[in-house]
Amino acid sequence: MAMNSLDQLFTHFLKDMYTAEKTILETLPKMAKKADSSELRKAFEEHEKQTKNHVKRLEQVFKLMDERVAGVPCKAIEGIVAEGKEIMNEAESADALDAGLIAAAQAVEHYEIARYGTMAAWAKELGMDEAAELLHETLEEEVETDEKLSELAEERINQEAA
Ligand code: FE
Ligand code: FE
Repeated sequence: MAMNSLDQLFTHFLKDMYTAEKTILETLPKMAKKADSSELRKAFEEHEKQTKNHVKRLEQVFKLMDERVAGVPCKAIEGIVAEGKEIMNEAESADALDAGLIAAAQAVEHYEIARYGTMAAWAKELGMDEAAELLHETLEEEVETDEKLSELAEERINQEAA
């Protein structure tokens, strides 16, 4: 796919994130199932609901651009999810498992934050204000999720120290 201009790059990132969000949507229920802490499980379940909307918002952006909804392979998310699976398979204690799950989930959120930040800025640059708004809404939910995960991690560490 050509990536010679900002709009072509934007379309590429849109398709990349479409694949990423769909992969995340498949992965979150597995992570929820594995989580030992009920709070962590709830956080994953809550983010699964939000992620369904992230997919829908991307579909709206495709529509705004008169583009066919389609994904391209997203190597970054494949790698992050593969690493997460390794943690799920190898963490032996419940605490290590939850800490590992949080770390894996935060890597996903940070990838999303990086991409949505860029895409929202590019959409604005390209004069696509409605698309920028949609991307920004998702960006905010990713940031909130990342913060929630940090809180859970810190609470847990504090508990162990007590
Ligand atoms: Fe998302
Ligand atoms: Fe997310």
